[in-house]
Amino acid sequence: MTDPRSPILLWFRRDLRLADHPALHAAAASGRPVIPVALCDEGVEALGAAPRQRLGLSLAELARSLESLGSRLILRRGPALDTLRALVAETGAGAVWWTRLHDPLSRHRDDAVTDGLTGQGTEARAFPGHLLHEPEAVRTGAGGPFRIYGPFFKALRARDPGEPLPAPQRPPAPDRWPASDRLPDWRLDAAMNRGGPIVAAWQHPGEARARDRLDRFIAERIGGYATARDYPSQDGSSRLSENLTLGEISPRACWHAGLSALERGEAGAEQFLKEVAWRDFSHHLLFHSPGIATDHWRPEWRTFPWSRDADTPLVQAWQRGRTGIRLVDAAMREMYVTGRMHNRARMIAASLLTKHMMVDWRVGLKWFEDCLTDWDPASNAVNWQWVAGSGPDASPFFRIFSPEAQSKSYDRQGLYERTWIAEGQAAPPATALAYFDAIPRSWRMSPREAYPEPVLDLAAGRAAALAAFRARRESS
Ligand code: FAD
Repeated sequence: MTDPRSPILLWFRRDLRLADHPALHAAAASGRPVIPVALCDEGVEALGAAPRQRLGLSLAELARSLESLGSRLILRRGPALDTLRALVAETGAGAVWWTRLHDPLSRHRDDAVTDGLTGQGTEARAFPGHLLHEPEAVRTGAGGPFRIYGPFFKALRARDPGEPLPAPQRPPAPDRWPASDRLPDWRLDAAMNRGGPIVAAWQHPGEARARDRLDRFIAERIGGYATARDYPSQDGSSRLSENLTLGEISPRACWHAGLSALERGEAGAEQFLKEVAWRDFSHHLLFHSPGIATDHWRPEWRTFPWSRDADTPLVQAWQRGRTGIRLVDAAMREMYVTGRMHNRARMIAASLLTKHMMVDWRVGLKWFEDCLTDWDPASNAVNWQWVAGSGPDASPFFRIFSPEAQSKSYDRQGLYERTWIAEGQAAPPATALAYFDAIPRSWRMSPREAYPEPVLDLAAGRAAALAAFRARRESS
């Protein structure tokens, strides 16, 4: 029987905030001592370079916030179950609580942790909070999961996610705090090499910055959002993805802010709600079809002649922003310097790789996984499959983005391209030059070199992709 006064270990993962945190709220309200914990476990070890560095920035902010409430963040390194068991033994904790995650790796780990802890008599409890609604809660009329975004949004829109919860005042502290690792010793930025400080300078880590970002977006930009979000040179979208992916702000807080803007008659508010719902939809799909992160959701695409070789000159040119196709190169460089890429630019860069170059979307997915500070296991996979045409409710394969037409429509003055491409400019901006300081020296690139000629003929690439698409359709 668990002692009802024993401490609760509050295991933080992708919920690095104090406000609207159901697990923390319940722990603080229980009156039991609360010991906040973060682990450098198998989940963290599996992260790509940029998301791992970004996590470190966020943990530092969370530790500061907890300290301001008289609490602490205890850091421990090691496999999740063993490390939590050791902490339970050291602290006499009777429970380990956390916010539920829905991707296959986290589920696998969390199931093992639940079994291991309950098997020894320690309560293991998962709370909601990472999504607006848990993936089982939103159901079709027939009671199954959704595959199509439109009806999913309609069903989600009709549900009330409830009011955001306040941050606890002062969670009760244990009599004695367990020892903690030092965050710098985890070296979460180690894989970033030269790019580390450059990417870090673009981040807005922590709950306070996330909240400020949401408030400013709602106050200043949501009115024009529906149009401005499409232009990569404009600051038209919320930029909250780096915060949402680590739970520095809750989706429910974003939803409520969007709803109040809608009530005030702000034109872009409904579109904002739709985009926040895309995040839930991606997690809904990943939860109900875990294979979507690793395999074509539509099995007929297994016979398509994608190249899976990530080590070709063509893929390298794409990764390094050296395709000679300006909009795509600008996008890839923006990601390398800032850890983010504009949404439309993501679609165009992904389309070039999977269609004109006929490279398997998983090659691109992996590169984004290493470079994006807003990397999210569900949104990355679902969006790659959406662009490639292999996912549920995907853009049809034959709808191929033309980078030239996209440039004309969405970067007519070339502002985005000049922001990120230095070659050929007499006085390139700092943004474009930063790229050359961030990349590995072994890439041997210099802003003084000539900008490359296109590595492929766009019309021929498009024709070859369409011919392969027709051949696959006829043979299936
Ligand atoms: P806003 O336009 O302000 O939208 C608000 C929030 O809604 C975002 O912060 C995000 O959480 C969510 N959202 C918006 N668009 C989408 C979408 N298409 N899918 C899912 N959620 C969305 N987003 C990630 O968060 N992580 C990823 O790893 C990721 N990988 C992507 C890969 C590809 C190939 C593509 C095409 C898109 C990817 N996206 C990913 C989706 C989208 O590009 C980003 O969410 C968006 O650019 C973030 O900018 P923002 O915060 O200003 O978004």
